[in-house]
Amino acid sequence: KLENATLKAELGNAAWKVLHTTMAKFPDKPTKDDSQALKSFVHLFARLYPCGECARHFQKILEKFPPQVASRSTAAAWACHVHNEVNKSLKKEPFDCSKIGDFYDCGCADDEEGDGKDKD
Ligand code: FAD
Repeated sequence: KLENATLKAELGNAAWKVLHTTMAKFPDKPTKDDSQALKSFVHLFARLYPCGECARHFQKILEKFPPQVASRSTAAAWACHVHNEVNKSLKKEPFDCSKIGDFYDCGCADDEEGDGKDKD
């Protein structure tokens, strides 16, 4: 089957949005279990990413830059960094990670777990 660059780019766009928005909602003060879950999620995301070539490439990036799961800000900065690594290899402009702050908004109400409020 031939590559369809439009679909591949759409998939990438959607996947990055989920990844960065997940980081934006990750707790400021995660439990060990929260941090372990995020680490597993990132490794499984990299392993199961539907574009095989992308998955292999991203797994190599993870070996060099393991997921940072100690807090929301470290997780968000890490995801921005690895996305920039992919941007670099595709000869795209880097994103200014100091501007990541409110860029990714899930649009969901603050009435559930994972809204950043301390529960423990
Ligand atoms: P995208 O890179 O999809 O970014 C979407 C939007 O996110 C941008 O418009 C910008 O607003 C924002 N953004 C850009 N950089 C950052 C950043 N560093 N941090 C936060 N936000 C940012 N494609 C390939 O052809 N080969 C590959 O090997 C490959 N590997 C990939 C691996 C993964 C894990 C993923 C998720 C995607 C991969 N892709 C790959 C797809 C590729 O990264 C792009 O998604 C696709 O080329 C579309 O690019 P885009 O210009 O629309 O912006």
